[in-house]
Amino acid sequence: MPQLATRMGRAKPSAIMVIAEKAKRLKAEGRDIVSFSIGVPNFLPGEHVYAAAREALAKDSGQYGSNRGSDALVDAFLGHIEALGLTGYKRENVSTGVGAKQILYNLAEALLDEGDEIAFPAPYWTSYLDIAEIVGAKINILPCPPEQHYKLTPAQLDEALARKPRVFLFNNPSNPTGMVYTRDEIVALADVIAKYPDTWIITDDIYNTMVFDGVGYHNFVHVRPELKDRVIFVDSLSKTYGMPGWRVGFIAAPESVAKAVTTLNSNHITSLPEVITAAAVAALSGPQDVPAAKCAEFAVKRDRVYNALVSIPGVVCPRPQGAFYAFPDISVAFGKKHNGVAITSDVDFCAALLETKGVACVPGSAFGEPRALRISYSCPDEALDKGMARIVEFFAELT
Ligand code: PMP
Repeated sequence: MPQLATRMGRAKPSAIMVIAEKAKRLKAEGRDIVSFSIGVPNFLPGEHVYAAAREALAKDSGQYGSNRGSDALVDAFLGHIEALGLTGYKRENVSTGVGAKQILYNLAEALLDEGDEIAFPAPYWTSYLDIAEIVGAKINILPCPPEQHYKLTPAQLDEALARKPRVFLFNNPSNPTGMVYTRDEIVALADVIAKYPDTWIITDDIYNTMVFDGVGYHNFVHVRPELKDRVIFVDSLSKTYGMPGWRVGFIAAPESVAKAVTTLNSNHITSLPEVITAAAVAALSGPQDVPAAKCAEFAVKRDRVYNALVSIPGVVCPRPQGAFYAFPDISVAFGKKHNGVAITSDVDFCAALLETKGVACVPGSAFGEPRALRISYSCPDEALDKGMARIVEFFAELT
């Protein structure tokens, strides 16, 4: 019998997808399910995006495209990041991919040899661990518990970078916690990064337009432009423009890194499809009212979720200020029972919550923090309030 590659022993399906699939199955069986599980923005892009896609379809050349991304797409992305204050990048600094996830996978292949170290804070987005494991990297997880608002401290970063990892992977705003680093916090971390010139810095900042309370979006290169020769900025259309299924991601990076990702594209995907490219150009260069309006809506949803969570005795929830996630510490429930069923972990909690209340959340252990769970709150207000009321009820029923 032929064997799979050894690396497949380290590859596992995304934990988030497993919960989302279960919620879908229960719904199909007729259960009244509220799904807070999957990180989809739950809105559609503006009509101009569809118009551009239709127009491209009408005159589709049927050809392969550029491995880097078409000039029009690369230029639209450069314009987009300039508006974010990321200036001075050229076409040679950019590459594209089938979503940020594929870009991150390509970056892992491009930057990490087997056994090379990658460091990242926990809670982390699940795929960071999964991808690093597939490529056989040595993983240094930097625990950032709720007591420090799930944020990395300069001292922790200093200790991690002193080990000279090949890559430090940073995510701001954060999935799963919704935390956003202030400018001062970014300055303090950038000061540490500047001391260690041998480490690539990946900033996965795909939620950069979803920041509330006037905190603003800040990158290490905003505060220390000289770090541009090591910082790899990752972006995506998925969340900003309500286009997760269109699968378009980007990097702005040192030329050597953009070139490496482009070379991998030439072996993996060849190019993004022409119709998708046209839609992506329209999203990036057309009216920006949809992302701005959605950011304001998510800030209001954040309040609804946060207020419900902090009303529950013993639940601790650092206040999210970006993306569309809340990450409460629910460990007060551990050691208690619900309907006679013992709750000893986040996994038990989420299983019982789904079973008895029909609310799907992802256990925090999927993100490296087993005391918490993730609520993805992008759903319509009615479902949001119903789901939160059921969570409050669930806690009240614990004995
Ligand atoms: N990074 C983070 C932090 C994410 O939350 C996600 C999507 N959930 C991705 C990357 C991947 O996004 P894309 O849809 O562009 O592949």
